[in-house]
Amino acid sequence: VDVVNAEFVKSSVKTEECPADGAPEFALVGRSNVGKSSLLNSLVRRKRLALTSKKPGKTQCINHFRINDSWYLVDLPGYGFAAAPHEVRTDWAKFTKDYFLNRPTLVSVFLLIDASIPAKKIDLEYASWLGQNEIPMTLVFTKCDKRKKKKNGGKRPEENVRDFQELIRDFFKSTPPWIMTSSVTNQGRDEILLHMSQLRNY
Ligand code: GDP
Repeated sequence: VDVVNAEFVKSSVKTEECPADGAPEFALVGRSNVGKSSLLNSLVRRKRLALTSKKPGKTQCINHFRINDSWYLVDLPGYGFAAAPHEVRTDWAKFTKDYFLNRPTLVSVFLLIDASIPAKKIDLEYASWLGQNEIPMTLVFTKCDKRKKKKNGGKRPEENVRDFQELIRDFFKSTPPWIMTSSVTNQGRDEILLHMSQLRNY
C-alpha cells in the first residue's frame, strides 16, 4: 500500500498524449491554493517531487507520476485562480473535462476541498459536473488541522465538511467516499493510499 517508489513521467497537454500502458490512475484536482502540491508531496513523502508541476509552463499540463512501477498519480492544473484570464480558464475547463471523459484508465478523481473555509461556489460547480457526468469521485478535504476563525464563518473543519456533503448530495446517486486530511499532521495520508489500493483491486 505504501509508496516505495515515485517518479515523474511526463507532462501532457492533451488526453491522447498521456501514458498508454494501461496502468490505473488517480487524478488530483482542486482550486488553486487548496493544498494539492502539499498533499502530493505528503503522499509520496518526497519533498519537491510535485514541484515539477509548478514549473512555469507545466502548470497547465496533465502531469503523470508513476508509483511503485505499477500505477499513476496525476496532478491536474488547479482551477479558480482569480487572476487567470478568461481564455485560460475556458481552455482549462475544456482540457480537463476532455481528460475526465476520455481516459478509461482513470479510476477515480480525487477532488480536493479546503475544509478550513465554507464551501465555494466553484467547488460546488465542479463537484456537480463530476456527479452529473458520473465520473467516479473521492472527496479529499484538506487543511483539517486548521482551527476555526471568525473570518471563515467560525466553523470547524468537521462542520464545513458536513455542509459541503449536504450541498452536493443531489448531484450523486450515492454519497461519494470522503477522506479528511492535513499535510501538516499527515492525517489521512494512509487512508488515501489504502483507498487507492482498494479501488485498484476492485
Ligand atoms: P496548491 O496551490 O493547491 O498546490 O497548494 P499548496 O500545496 O501550494 O498550498 C497552498 C498553501 O496552503 C500553502 O501556504 C501551504 O503551506 C498551505 N497548506 C497546504 N496544505 C495544508 C494543510 O494541510 N494545513 C495547513 N494548515 N496549511 C496547508
